[in-house]
Amino acid sequence: MYQRTDALVLKSFDLRETDQILTLFSRELGKISVVAKGVKKPQSTLRGLVQPFCYSQFFLTRTGEMHLITQGRLGEFFGNIREDLDKTLQALYVLELLDKSTVERDPNPALLNLTLQVLRYIENNPVSSVSLRFYEMKLLGAVGFAPVLDRCSNCHKADDLIYFSRASGGAVCNSCATESSAVRILPATLAVLRTLQHSGLSILPRLRLNPSVLEQTEKVLEDYLEFYLERKLNLKSVMRTLKGVR
Ligand SMILES: [Zn+2]
Repeated sequence: MYQRTDALVLKSFDLRETDQILTLFSRELGKISVVAKGVKKPQSTLRGLVQPFCYSQFFLTRTGEMHLITQGRLGEFFGNIREDLDKTLQALYVLELLDKSTVERDPNPALLNLTLQVLRYIENNPVSSVSLRFYEMKLLGAVGFAPVLDRCSNCHKADDLIYFSRASGGAVCNSCATESSAVRILPATLAVLRTLQHSGLSILPRLRLNPSVLEQTEKVLEDYLEFYLERKLNLKSVMRTLKGVR
């Protein structure tokens, strides 16, 4: 059975001498593993398509549990990202987060579109860690874990929202902030989190954030992601690498 699909390459690893196994995030099939036979031979037409963050059209055939790539056509290559180390690290972080927050064969075209938008943003704009915070917040919404930010996630009151609790699922008011995971947050941090949740990418170049707000926003989202994705995220080390990138 043949199938055509548009997909983003998340990662690849070698299988035997000339073959590779790729993890794709496919529009139609969700996250899948596919075999690219002979891709490491110099004459292979697939060579240009199988690198991380290539977005391409793939023709697949299925043998048992595995998909095989028979042909492909390159869509987007993200060349500017590849030429810049900081941009490359950011894009790899985006792919890592997408990989860790999804299960196989659960299509999510909205999440694919979001990821492509953020990669295009990274490709075409100066490096800024805010684009990663935007991706984290929107990804949480796309996988059904959007934090509650406009009222207390415990008692639903709209005032005194000066804490954030990952266990309660978002902002919490002064009187509900008893459980241990609640952390005090700056009003400006809550405002940034709300902006990231409700706005499109076009807001990012206009956001002027002081370092303490940016740092707190990063910490809140990192803790929340770890808690909700319930995976052993390999994010910390990547994030540490990115700390110097602002
Ligand atoms: Zn409350």
